[in-house]
Amino acid sequence: MNYARFLTAVSAARKPSPIRILTELQQRSPPSLISLAGGAPNPNTFPFLSASIQVRNGPTVTFDETSMKRALQYSASNGIPELLTWMKDLQKSLHNPPNPHTDMCVTTGSQEGLCKVFEMLVNPGDNVLLDAPTYSGTLAALQPMGCNLINVSSDEHGMDPAALRQVLSRWSPSESSRPKVLYTIPNGGNPTGASMNEQRKRDVYQLAQQYDMLIIEDDPYYFLQFEKPWAPTFLSMDVDGRVIRTDSFSKILSSGLRLGFVTGPKPLVERVVLHIQASTMHTSSFTQLMVSQLLHSWGEQGFLQHIQGVIEFYREQRDAMLGSAEKWLKDVAEWHAPKAGMFLWIKLKGITDTQQLIQEKALEKEVLLVPGGVFMIDSSEPCPYVRAAFSLSSPEKMDEAFRRLSLLIREAQS
Ligand code: PMP
Ligand code: PLP
Repeated sequence: MNYARFLTAVSAARKPSPIRILTELQQRSPPSLISLAGGAPNPNTFPFLSASIQVRNGPTVTFDETSMKRALQYSASNGIPELLTWMKDLQKSLHNPPNPHTDMCVTTGSQEGLCKVFEMLVNPGDNVLLDAPTYSGTLAALQPMGCNLINVSSDEHGMDPAALRQVLSRWSPSESSRPKVLYTIPNGGNPTGASMNEQRKRDVYQLAQQYDMLIIEDDPYYFLQFEKPWAPTFLSMDVDGRVIRTDSFSKILSSGLRLGFVTGPKPLVERVVLHIQASTMHTSSFTQLMVSQLLHSWGEQGFLQHIQGVIEFYREQRDAMLGSAEKWLKDVAEWHAPKAGMFLWIKLKGITDTQQLIQEKALEKEVLLVPGGVFMIDSSEPCPYVRAAFSLSSPEKMDEAFRRLSLLIREAQS
């Protein structure tokens, strides 16, 4: 594929930072190299000496003085090599991307990756397709770019290919104003909890081929799919090199460490890395080395075993929330059971807009939910939904919260 058509002028103009190239060269060279190049500070002046991190049911992660110096120093912009290699092997075994020119880089959370991917591809006035309601962080990254966000209808199975075909029929497949980019959250959507099945993904991919669009697959809840087998990803279907996938460790290892990954066609991942060079330089070396040590000692088997434990926790939380919803909200609300993720998307009966209800009345009743409007392209339009997270509260707290919510709805209805 020729990616030139997809790049913004800013992204196309990015050039490697000469000092970054030297730093990366130096890190690959034998110790006999005397380098007066680069501008790395001397880690002997840094106050941190060593570290030891206890791991639940696992081996301790340790940094002696030598490895600590590396953890405190600048590192390559695409990621620490041993972490990248481990992740590339994992991507291969989970998705086996058919495009031989697939590459990966580490990002500071998937949000950084997404934002840089959008900035690489989206010009003011461009038509961008997504299935709203969608993640508010995506809207926050896209809306200031002055693009036209076009909604593709979705249901509890995510983006609807028939609706996509309908939207795309406004353009001919070669018209220059046709959308170049389609964004979707394929599993446990934030906020809807919706997950796409394989057939829908294949149909969407085919339409992307027909209109020569790129697909941004934002999949932070991939590892939180409650049902096996996990649905094949867009990345696993990508024979052309038109899928850019963002993965996140936020929901499975730590959200505060800020670790994510961009996987996609090499020429596009390269553009993202050039942007990283010019902004954060790289994700924290310490974070990457700490996680890399753990992953290497776990192996893929140990990692997937850890994931299984996380899945079981969230599945129980989901079931508890669904039980309480059934108990308290049956007559006043509607919802679908999510197959992945951490959210329940609830439609309140007889309420036109939840914004005011949540803002003014919910705190009085001591229950907080996210009003659905914040996930809409036009947040001023009335929205009868709220998003409830089953990630943090105990089953008892969720039950009490839904009891309070049911009172709130009944009062607002009358
Ligand atoms: N500004 C100047 C003038 C610098 O020399 C450097 C680092 N060499 C930076 C910014 C970037 O610093 P940081 O590592 O804090 O991103
Ligand atoms: N994408 C979606 C759909 C999310 O729900 C989130 C987090 O809530 C992110 C991206 C950001 O994830 P990260 O913490 O990896 O930046």
